[in-house]
Formats: sequence, C-alpha cells, structure tokens
Amino acid sequence: MAPALPVLPAPLRLLTSQADLRYHAAPGGGIFNPPSATHMGFWSINPYVGCAFGCAYCYARDTHRYTIERAGAAGQAVTDSLPPWLAFERRVLVKEHAGARVREALRTTRAPRAGDSLVIGSATDPYQPAERRFRVTRSVLEALEPVRGLSLTIITKSPLVTRDIPLLQGLARHNTVAVHVSLITTDRDLARRLEPRAPTPDSRLRAVARLAAAGVEVSVNCMPVLPGITDAPQQLADVIARVAAAGARSFGACALRLRAASRRRWMPVVREHFPALAPRYASTYRDSVYAAPRYREGLQQVVQRLCAQHGLQVREYRRLDPAGRVALEAEERSAQERSAQERSAQERSAQERSAQERSAQERSAQERSAQERAAHDVDTAPASHTQLAFLDDATGNIP
Ligand code: SF4
Repeated sequence: MAPALPVLPAPLRLLTSQADLRYHAAPGGGIFNPPSATHMGFWSINPYVGCAFGCAYCYARDTHRYTIERAGAAGQAVTDSLPPWLAFERRVLVKEHAGARVREALRTTRAPRAGDSLVIGSATDPYQPAERRFRVTRSVLEALEPVRGLSLTIITKSPLVTRDIPLLQGLARHNTVAVHVSLITTDRDLARRLEPRAPTPDSRLRAVARLAAAGVEVSVNCMPVLPGITDAPQQLADVIARVAAAGARSFGACALRLRAASRRRWMPVVREHFPALAPRYASTYRDSVYAAPRYREGLQQVVQRLCAQHGLQVREYRRLDPAGRVALEAEERSAQERSAQERSAQERSAQERSAQERSAQERSAQERSAQERAAHDVDTAPASHTQLAFLDDATGNIP
C-alpha cells in the first residue's frame, strides 16, 4: 500500500530565519501547476514562493503577494509590514514534503505524462539559498525518478544545481533533461546592481562548464535583455562568447517584458541607477508590456549572428513546446488587442471632451514630445550603452 501523504501542519508557520531572511511553510495545494492553470503549455513546479536573489526586474513578485494576501491575517503577520516587493525577497515560503506530494500526484491525473514538458523553476529559482537547507528541489527530482518520456527543464541562476548532477544524469536516461542557466551580463558590478543577491556571472559560467562536462544538456537564458543597459552588441558578444566557451549547447535571449508586477520594482531602480534612461523606459513601455517589434527583431538578428559565430543554437523559449508557443503568441496578441481597445476608448473619450479638456490634452502632448526629445538625446548621445538600445526609434543600424 502506498504511504499516506503527510498532513501539512499550519501554513506560514516560521521554519527558520537567517540574517534578514525568514523561511515559512507554504500553504498546501497541488504541487504540479497544470498548463490549464498557467496557460503556458507546460507543467511546472516551483519549490519555493518568493526568491532571495532579489533581481530588480523579476516578474514573479505577484505570485508571492497573492499567496500572502490569500492567507489573510497570517499573511500580514509574515510580511511584518515589509512592502510586497521586499517581502518576496525576504519571506520565502517553502513547499514542504514536496517529494511525497509529487509521488502522490504521479498516481493521479494531476501530473505530467510521457510526452509532456515539465519546467522546474518557471516562476522562482529552485536553487536559491533555501535549497541548501530544505532540499525541496532535490526531493522533487528524486520523486521523478520513475517517470519516463518527460521533457524536463530546470531554470536557475545558481551553481547549486551542480550538486544534483548525478540525479540529472539518472533522469536523462529515460527523459529529455536540460538545465537553463540564466545570465544577462558578464559584468560583475552591473550584475550586482541588477541582481543584488544572485550568484556572480563567473560562478554561473563555471556551473555551465561543470554541467556540460558531466554530459548534462545546458543552455543559457539571457533574459531579460534590458534595453540600454545590457543590450549593447559588445555586451551580448561577451556573454555569448563566454557561454560558448563554457560548453553550453544553445542560447536564448528575450527583451524585457514589463508587466505590472515587475514595473513597480523596476522603474524606481531605473530612476535610481540609470536616470538618463528613465524617460525612454516610461515611453517605450507606456502602452505595452513588450519592447517594440523592431527592437525585438533587431535583438534577435544580433543574437543569431553572434550565436552562429560561436556555434551555439539559438533557442526561442516560446518553442519549448508547440502548446507553449501558441499560448505565448495568444498572450501577445491579446495584450496587443487590449492595448488597441484601450487606445480606441481613449480616442472616443477625447472626442467627447470639452475645449478645456482638449487644451489640457495638448499640454500633455507637448510634455510627451519634450520627453521624446529628451529620449532621442539619450539615443544620439555617445553613451556606451546605447548602440542597440531602443532601436525602434534610433536612426543607426545594428553594427
Ligand atoms: S532568480 Fe529569478 S525568481 Fe529569483 S529574483 Fe531573480 S528573476 Fe526572480
């Protein structure tokens, strides 16, 4: 008879604390996130809610906020009046008994089957510091041992993933296994400003080399590419050359998507660390979560050329599987449609406005135009970061 699933004790109780970090028990619930819930076309597991690496551009902050809010007063007690963006980094929730929960789910239809894709770390890093102590990710990998025919991807910034190389080698005998190491710059100081507590770029590159040497398929995610900050062709060339030298097989890059959750944290960081770029970010991402199509196309051309030079396959994350691709394209289309609908509603309302309102609108248009002129100055200034930055408006070609 299968062992009974452990009864999870009170959610959000304190497990341990370490310096300014506190770890709490995550609420129960399904351990696998099905494609029907995420609309991402693949199954996923996130062993932790919240992430101590604290990347300024992180889009996963809302997952933590929702969990805390759903817990009511207990959630408020956990955050201890920290703002939600900081609670995400300092109050990490741990999914206890994850291995047993995976084994249990595998006996039901609430788990992926042969031919499905499973991503570990689709929202938060599965090898963040908590993993050293709680080993939740490891317990998940151990529980997946009997599975056959799965396409398993692990996404991480941490060299701790190399601890589990023997497990990954075992899983790769019956499944497709790949580790995607995230790396957006090789510049240690710049990385420290953008990803304050994440492992250094050099340590991630060493992890890539160790995984590759062990025969584990390893790819690098250069995501997000930050316009004006990490997108100069020389910066990308540096990343790609070092990734190739470390032994990665493929490389994927994607420009920053600025959803509400990341916008609230990211824009103050831009204003503080890159003030000259703040007006461009405000205008580029004013009506859309995406950088302009021409910018994204230019970025892909540069990435393809550099990868070809270094013998790396270019990987588009949306091609993880066909369903995922459809979901992302649909998401993009619906974002565009929403933005078009909003624009058209704004136009209708503008027509109905009084003459006084129209003149207010004109003043605001003048302000926008002044903003755009200031932004153009950023493009044309001889700054080191602007070669590829915001190409949609720039006049030069990609070198
Ligand atoms: S490592 Fe990933 S999940 Fe963690 S803060 Fe950075 S972007 Fe967010």
